[in-house]
Amino acid sequence: MAFEVKKLGVIGAGQMGLGIALVAAQKAQVPVTLVDNSQQSLDKGLAFADKLLAKDVQKQRITEEIAKATKDRLKATTNMADLSDVDMVIEAVPEIPSLKEKIFAELAEVCPKHAILATNTSSISITKIARATSKDPTDTQASSRVVSTHFMNPVPVQKGVEIIAGLQTSPETVSAAVAFCEKMGKVASVSADSPGFLANRILMPYINEAIICLETGVGKKEDIDNIMKNGTNVPMGPLTLADFIGLDTCLAIMETLHAGLGDSKYRPSVLLRQYVDAGWLGKKSGRGFYEY
Ligand code: NAD
Repeated sequence: MAFEVKKLGVIGAGQMGLGIALVAAQKAQVPVTLVDNSQQSLDKGLAFADKLLAKDVQKQRITEEIAKATKDRLKATTNMADLSDVDMVIEAVPEIPSLKEKIFAELAEVCPKHAILATNTSSISITKIARATSKDPTDTQASSRVVSTHFMNPVPVQKGVEIIAGLQTSPETVSAAVAFCEKMGKVASVSADSPGFLANRILMPYINEAIICLETGVGKKEDIDNIMKNGTNVPMGPLTLADFIGLDTCLAIMETLHAGLGDSKYRPSVLLRQYVDAGWLGKKSGRGFYEY
């Protein structure tokens, strides 16, 4: 019989975790236990969920009944032990390897022995996170249930999700993660556990190359953005997109690709590093390649 997620846990009520919890509650219609170590983050997250649901009702995308049923499925807590009855948990705490490893060691203890243990990491090796679930690396009882469900931001809007299997991940775990993401209305792509996975491995060198074109005078910023926007039917050009993602994030991902794959084709652009050094990080700091 196919694995069924009847109850979900989400750890981290920030930008990504809240979005994942909300879409799971609304589309997959499962009860969600939302865990954060900060009550303030939980309060802020739930208030944001109210705002998003109210907007959907106002725009007649959903009814008031659906909004209420969705909200009722979300339970917030600061206690990890409340994850003792979930079938799957998705972790979305900050991108700090030691923090994720500590949480997965705890999840292996707290969650039922059948539960899928998923991470939303953007760059950390799934194999490494899975390794943290047991002191004995040959004991794969928990590590075979670790997988990545890498949702795209903002979760309620972007349909794509990457499912990444670590070395220890079982095929059943991958199938269960794909099935649940599809129940959430997403389109899943399976990727191996390799630096940048699929999305960033393809996207970031493209953005980096656009910045190198600017740096070496091949084109002006408007020309670079315009040709890609109007020539490949994407909603924004690569430099505008970099400003939206955050130039510090782009640099960090290029450094991960460069270090992990060791090929000079992943060398971060000198100009990108200079913008980050200047504090011109894009939209969030008011200035990147463009002014906001
Ligand atoms: P965020 O900073 O918005 O949220 C993180 C949340 O985790 C906060 O609410 C924080 O209080 C909570 N937290 C911190 N330590 C905790 C702990 N020990 N236990 C429980 N909760 C804890 O971060 P985010 O942008 O939502 O990113 C979360 C993850 O998703 C990261 O791994 C990130 O790389 C990944 N990701 C982010 C994006 C993006 O565009 N923001 C896209 C894809 C993946």
